[in-house]
Amino acid sequence: MSEPRPVTALLIEDDPGDAELIRQLLARGEPACRTEVRPRLATGLARLAEGGVDVVLLDFSLPDSVGLASFRALRDAHPEVPVLVLTSLDDDAMAVRAVAEGAQDYLVKQHVDGRLLGRALRYAIERHRIQRALSASEERYALAVRGANDGLWDWDCAAGAVYLSPRFHEILGYRPGEIGDRLESWLALAAPDDRERLRAALTSHAEGGDLHFELEHRMLHRDGRALWVTTRGAAVREAGGRAVRMAGSMADVSGRKAAERQLLHDALHDGLTGLANRTLFLDRLSVALAARRRGEPAPFAVLFLDLDRFKHVNDSLGHGKGDRLLVEIARRLTGLMRPGDTVARLGGDEFAVLAIGVRDSAAAAHIAERIQRQLAIPFRLDHEEVFAGASIGIALPGEGDGDAEHLLRDADLAMYRAKAAGRGRYEVFDLELHTAAVQLLKLETELRRAVAAGDFVMHYQPIVTLADGRIVGFEALTRWQHAERGLVAPVHFIALAEETGLVVPLGWFVLERACRQLRAWQSRFPASPPLFMSVNVSGKLFAEDGAVERVLRILEAADLAPESLRLEVTESVVLDHSAAVTEKLHTLRALGVQLSIDDFGTGYSSLSYLQRFRYDSLKIDRSFVRDIEINDSRVIIETILSLARHLGISVVAEGVETEAQLERLRTLGCPLGQGFWFSRPVAVPEVERLLAAGAAG
Ligand code: C2E
Ligand code: MG
Ligand code: MG
Repeated sequence: MSEPRPVTALLIEDDPGDAELIRQLLARGEPACRTEVRPRLATGLARLAEGGVDVVLLDFSLPDSVGLASFRALRDAHPEVPVLVLTSLDDDAMAVRAVAEGAQDYLVKQHVDGRLLGRALRYAIERHRIQRALSASEERYALAVRGANDGLWDWDCAAGAVYLSPRFHEILGYRPGEIGDRLESWLALAAPDDRERLRAALTSHAEGGDLHFELEHRMLHRDGRALWVTTRGAAVREAGGRAVRMAGSMADVSGRKAAERQLLHDALHDGLTGLANRTLFLDRLSVALAARRRGEPAPFAVLFLDLDRFKHVNDSLGHGKGDRLLVEIARRLTGLMRPGDTVARLGGDEFAVLAIGVRDSAAAAHIAERIQRQLAIPFRLDHEEVFAGASIGIALPGEGDGDAEHLLRDADLAMYRAKAAGRGRYEVFDLELHTAAVQLLKLETELRRAVAAGDFVMHYQPIVTLADGRIVGFEALTRWQHAERGLVAPVHFIALAEETGLVVPLGWFVLERACRQLRAWQSRFPASPPLFMSVNVSGKLFAEDGAVERVLRILEAADLAPESLRLEVTESVVLDHSAAVTEKLHTLRALGVQLSIDDFGTGYSSLSYLQRFRYDSLKIDRSFVRDIEINDSRVIIETILSLARHLGISVVAEGVETEAQLERLRTLGCPLGQGFWFSRPVAVPEVERLLAAGAAG
């Protein structure tokens, strides 16, 4: 056995004789004990405050304090130190009260011996330590339970009785004790679907197994609601392992469950309309495709919707109204579809519908028509009537095993074709569309390479005076030198170049070439005024930063006067692009570069709109020239000419193919022309022959 730890005892005793007696008894019974003596309560307390005292022996009659009051003072000031009370035979009763209030023991002075005293001391110290540890842990537990706000349960398996705490009752909406004390009355409050699960969890844990159990299930609140709770518990077992008692807690987790559900909902739904979002839509579509692959007869169709005038609504009525329109559209769409269908908002003004049970494209087309009829009814937003048609693309699952993304893309492509064919239509995705899409992709790849490699040649078409056929300038027209297809005309690639942004590098390439070429011709074929060059430019070129400087650099590098360059823009450049684009064009104009409006009269621009754009010349579209014998066209040409005279700008008539057209234009007073009648667009050597002939003749 190891040596007992030395103990410091504080004896508070005023009678020197008694003090000496106790000290000697202790020295005999507990050799490892150091005893210090203080004659008064006050000095005893002072000693305690210094620390290092393991136990106090307290005499009940002190000069400065008597009886229970002494004990209470000690206990309150130093609850960490155990106290043994020393009494005389006659104050026995008071000593008993002291023990009831927390003294460890009492000893009658007349009856103690060394061994008894030593043992009492040791026990007092140990018992006190245990009590304090226990109360600390109880306190901790009580605090934890209170903090967790859990209900408690305690099941006496042998007796079959259950204790359910007040908080347990409260969680379920009952008053304490109302639920009853049988296991069955507890289980009866579990939601019917979860009742057997709870019973099984409790009994199987009782029969052995895990250290503790935990189950998430629903309980019925008194008001009928189902509440999600987590029940936890652990068993106290007898030697054989069978539980004699189980106890645990029940936590209300319905708040957390709701939050989880909300998070899941948010991740899969569109915040504005509450419809499924793209993720959820693709998921449902994948499920439908998987069922098909398993051979389950579950036909369906995908409809892709894009609103026709949404940008207009947003721009003119504001985003608030735009949002409300989307919500209303979502409501109408949902109202049209069956419960098993999925209506989703994919983003912006794009919606998709997964229509279950649709066997063929005819049935899908019916749905598309129904949707379009519904959307054709104007929406009322406050006092405004808003119209919102949609273009719809339809795709049906094919024989192959395309995935959900694929099918949605097919529907998207079909929607594009519907939109291109005019708004408010629908189209069904088919093989032709597929082939076209594949070809377009191939073309894009080739074009990208061609732009990088500069596989383009320039043709130039003369622009002449109608009075005497003299060449005054040229229009630069680009041709793609394709390895297999030969020279490819712009109609086959300019639109794609616009769409892909390739028109920008291509545009700079063309501008540079044309300027250098013109400068060479101006030197070889001087004229007054000097020959000019018209170059078609995309608005995208001027959406770039530094576009003005770049044009100036090109002119400088070519040593060309700004007045010799004519930039041809279509009306749409003025209308569709930002004010910044127009501004840059105006800056160039201020520096001398000429601006010309191409294909004049074909756009939807109102003249008033164009009036804000300042330009130097315009080109009458060749469709008017072609139809010049038809009254309407002639009137239009006359109007354009008089407008041009009024504004003091020059006019070029495009597409002059016949002598008759030439004569007409002459009599109407059109100054300049361009067309096959004079020359097709031709390569450099041919241009030079023409110029030489012109100079000669
Ligand atoms: P555009 O600017 O209106 O050019 C005139 C088009 O009319 C040219 O077609 C020209 O060959 C054609 N044309 C000229 N005279 C006649 C005629 O008497 N009869 C008929 N039927 N057609 C005639 P092209 O070269 O195929 O160019 C088509 C369009 O492509 C051009 O229309 C222009 O908008 C665009 N384009 C051409 N080159 C470029 C370029 O480098 N950049 C950009 N952004 N667009 C270009
Ligand atoms: Mg042009
Ligand atoms: Mg034109």
